[in-house]
Amino acid sequence: MADSFDSDTRPPDDVDDTPTVSCSRCGDEWDLDYELDTLRVGNQAVERFALDHKRHTGHFPDDVTPWVAACEQCPDGDEFLRERPAQRWAEIHARHTGHAVSLKGSDDETATVDR
Ligand SMILES: [Zn+2]
Ligand SMILES: [Zn+2]
Repeated sequence: MADSFDSDTRPPDDVDDTPTVSCSRCGDEWDLDYELDTLRVGNQAVERFALDHKRHTGHFPDDVTPWVAACEQCPDGDEFLRERPAQRWAEIHARHTGHAVSLKGSDDETATVDR
């Protein structure tokens, strides 16, 4: 019976296959050894890669469903990997501009944030 407890005890940095990320917009695929070996972001390598990819190319790679904050009154908006920064962006935009901002979650639910 003791064996059944062993499967999850491997240390988190003992990664034996490097995760890969692909992007059909770029038509390219990357393994995340740079994120793991140089940036040392461990189990956040995929997230870090996605954010860097967005920052430098303007879009997220495949298999990433971002939170999307989009103003209903002006062209401003942004995409986030997590709910909290997306929510904060919406609140701050509404606070400064008085605009209502729609916030679409990775579950496809849309909420409206206004002042
Ligand atoms: Zn790309
Ligand atoms: Zn606005």
